[in-house]
Amino acid sequence: MSVSRLSRPYAEGLVAGVLRYQRCAACGQAQRLARHACPACGSTDLRWHDCAGAGTVVAVTEVRRAPADAWRALVPYTLVLVDLDEGARLMGHGAAGLAIGQRVRGRVAEAAGHRVPHFSPIPPA
Ligand SMILES: [Zn+2]
Repeated sequence: MSVSRLSRPYAEGLVAGVLRYQRCAACGQAQRLARHACPACGSTDLRWHDCAGAGTVVAVTEVRRAPADAWRALVPYTLVLVDLDEGARLMGHGAAGLAIGQRVRGRVAEAAGHRVPHFSPIPPA
């Protein structure tokens, strides 16, 4: 997995076992994806925060063809896009059977030797 200067704090969070997202220190907007500048106000003062992990599934797919040899033993596996309650969006692995609109909680898990976000359903209250 390649890590850029932009995504390094996120990758370091995975190693530390926490999911992180960016928030603009000037206007407070959570960044859906990691950026160098805030699309709302133009500030470059974007800071990384740990997230609580809860969110809502906005897309689901099942991977049937491994993107690399290291992932071959995992197929088929579920990938999800999740809108975190903090306002950011993360992609991660998901429990089988997840559906759009479902409430989930993320944690860091091991997959094919990588640390990745993994989302599991939050049971209805
Ligand atoms: Zn801003």
